[in-house]
Amino acid sequence: MRYFFSLAMTVALSGCTPQYHSAIAPPSGGKKPKNIILMIGDGMGLTQISAGLYANKNKLNLELFPYIGLHKSYPAENGDLITDSAAGATAFSAGEKTYNAAIGVGVDSLPRKTILEMAEEHGLATGLIATCNIAHATPASFIAHIKKRDLYENIAADFLKTNVDLVIGGGKKYFDRRADGRNLLTEWQKKGYYVSNQTQEDLERMVFPESNVVYFTAEDHPVPAAQGRDYLPLASRLGCDFLKKRNSKGFFMMIEGSQIDWGGHAKNSDYIISEMQDFDQAIGQVLDFAKKDGNTLVVVTADHETGGYSINKGSKMGSIQGAFTTDYHTGCLIPVFAFGPGSENFAGMYENTAIFHKMKTLFGF
Ligand code: MG
Ligand code: ZN
Repeated sequence: MRYFFSLAMTVALSGCTPQYHSAIAPPSGGKKPKNIILMIGDGMGLTQISAGLYANKNKLNLELFPYIGLHKSYPAENGDLITDSAAGATAFSAGEKTYNAAIGVGVDSLPRKTILEMAEEHGLATGLIATCNIAHATPASFIAHIKKRDLYENIAADFLKTNVDLVIGGGKKYFDRRADGRNLLTEWQKKGYYVSNQTQEDLERMVFPESNVVYFTAEDHPVPAAQGRDYLPLASRLGCDFLKKRNSKGFFMMIEGSQIDWGGHAKNSDYIISEMQDFDQAIGQVLDFAKKDGNTLVVVTADHETGGYSINKGSKMGSIQGAFTTDYHTGCLIPVFAFGPGSENFAGMYENTAIFHKMKTLFGF
């Protein structure tokens, strides 16, 4: 009987042509989140996570996430498998694959409405936090619609077209020392925003949510964590508390660990590890908020891997022998971690654009 069964299977399989089924919808699970926090570790592939883990006494907050998936990060260009951070973030923000360098626009260069803009339209509070120039590709793709990622002043001007509640990151010079003479900080103040003077009191001011807040951490890019940048974990936690108090209907926030990618471009293991650990500290703060809140979905992923990074022979717990195959991005599958109401929807394997569609469905937009 057993023999017959296996023979029948062999016959059945030998006549098969390859088939690829579309994803089966996971169980809806029931409870929907009021708040969604999307955390993007730029350039954070599985090896970056592994190195951060083993360099940190075999411990990361990422281990606490109950649901893990994989996304396909490629952009919409002639079968090219390698995305940049602009197309990668636009897939998350707007649910469409687009060309590399596109900021919140489709392959036709026309604007696509982002999840942050939809959240605003539905009366939710919104926030963006990053450890790079805030007009840089990843945060920009959630709030701006610009054909090319390096047009930082145009991207900065698009921030003023929204009512984003909270902005924390570098890039002040693209807002107040512009070729067109506009001072966007003054314009923000006229709209009722509190524009910070980069003091600790100002960072803590976010617990008093009478007005929208803009807090610049650098004229251009903030320094690496290894050179003393330490605001991301605190800003992430205060950002959660601020946005929750700012609006009772809920909020959407994107938090980026921007410089994991730059460690990969620099082929520098120590840079990757220190940025990975800083980002994981921010994840810990956000998880702590989400656990207490009970209505918050936290999704952590990356736009792509950077460096073709590997952990080679000679590596030990606490000391990583890293190697690189490239100084650019690679095309491997990217992990997705989810915690909170709706998190079961992020298990499985799917396109990067599915992250947008899952968030949109869970918000009920
Ligand atoms: Mg980025
Ligand atoms: Zn990069």
